[in-house]
Amino acid sequence: MTGPASGSPPPFLPYGRQDIDQTDIDAVTAVLRGDWLTQGPAVEAFERTLCDRTGAAHAVSCANGTAALHLATLALGLGPGDAVVVPAVTFLATANAARYVGAEVAFADVDPDTGLMGPEQAAAAMERAARAGWRVRALAPVHFAGQTADMAGLGQLADRHGLAVIEDACHAIGTLDMAPDGRVLPVGSGAFGTLTAFSFHPVKTIAAGEGGAVTTNDATLAARLRRFRNHGMERDPAGFEDREAAFASNGAVNPWYYEMAEPGFNYRLTDIQSALAFSQLSRLAAFVERRRHLMDLYAERLAPLAPLVRPAARVPWCRPAWHLCAARIDFAAAGRTRAQVMADLRAQGIGTQVHYIPVHHQPYWSKRYGGLALPGADTHYAHTLSLPLFPAMADTDVDRVVAALSATLGLSPAA
Ligand SMILES: *Cc1c(COP(=O)(O)O)cnc(C)c1O
Repeated sequence: MTGPASGSPPPFLPYGRQDIDQTDIDAVTAVLRGDWLTQGPAVEAFERTLCDRTGAAHAVSCANGTAALHLATLALGLGPGDAVVVPAVTFLATANAARYVGAEVAFADVDPDTGLMGPEQAAAAMERAARAGWRVRALAPVHFAGQTADMAGLGQLADRHGLAVIEDACHAIGTLDMAPDGRVLPVGSGAFGTLTAFSFHPVKTIAAGEGGAVTTNDATLAARLRRFRNHGMERDPAGFEDREAAFASNGAVNPWYYEMAEPGFNYRLTDIQSALAFSQLSRLAAFVERRRHLMDLYAERLAPLAPLVRPAARVPWCRPAWHLCAARIDFAAAGRTRAQVMADLRAQGIGTQVHYIPVHHQPYWSKRYGGLALPGADTHYAHTLSLPLFPAMADTDVDRVVAALSATLGLSPAA
């Protein structure tokens, strides 16, 4: 391939990209040559490995991260009149998962520098929910960019009010979370949250094409997740309510028999996707290592651009598997709009993205709840720009991004 020295432009750097190697391809083609395309041994192998990696007792794979969040609200039995506390800085799906089951969303503010919801912000959202007459049943902290929310503080709040905790860990597979007692546990271990949702969308840390999972230590919830994933169908005789229809006169289970107590969905992960997810999970440690290295490099290279540009603030209680490099940029002070900066970078072959437009500003939610003042979320949004971060990036790509950024902000001559 040609390099910059040849005069041709360097390859386009997207803000994120999957990393597929020959072992991944071999894992998928092996499934295609086998007997199962869906819900066969590859699904089981992936779920077992996810339990090993997270330390959770149960892992239930599913179609995508959105389905994982929906399965979580279904398994908890949330419904109309209930509310879930969701940080305003997240992807649409965290809030939608509450609405799918008819529950309301109590949007919480976030720290303007980290994008994370803390216990004070969650408590304020709970007070607003109480004034609206909603029964808050769950907190749904989002581990933005790969850093965990303050799970010790949020856990205490949840315990005080008898709430479930749904961790949206779609950004955070591979992150290590530190408990106040000093234990260091992988996100999804079940030590902090009741249920943890993951996504294996290609832009996330491991890719399944589309894919998701929920981990939990609660066997009853795990059984509900599995049932809702598969149409609400029950095949386990222990769960049958209609004993007469289920069993023949000799006491044996009728071989065709299945039962549905509550309607579910088809949220299954295929064996094809599971094989890719399994193979990618075996590469997770290397991905995380590389992402950490690149983030450290960004921190070092961005330091001279302060205070106009700062890397995302780091929280002390976790060791993140960075999903995003969400830089903080004072566009107003630089006299440039974010759209101009993004267009300049794109013209130089550098992709960037904005994570996220605060969800409560979406027309659906502002029509439903009216204007809601969440200044931390607005400040976070005003200053955020996600720079390229993915394992196959070279160290020199970081230099290229930082040089282009400082040039477009007028901090140095064009690179
Ligand atoms: C990606 C993402 C989701 C949804 O996951 P999909 O697999 O795309 O459905 C939910 N929450 C957050 C925070 C995400 O980043």
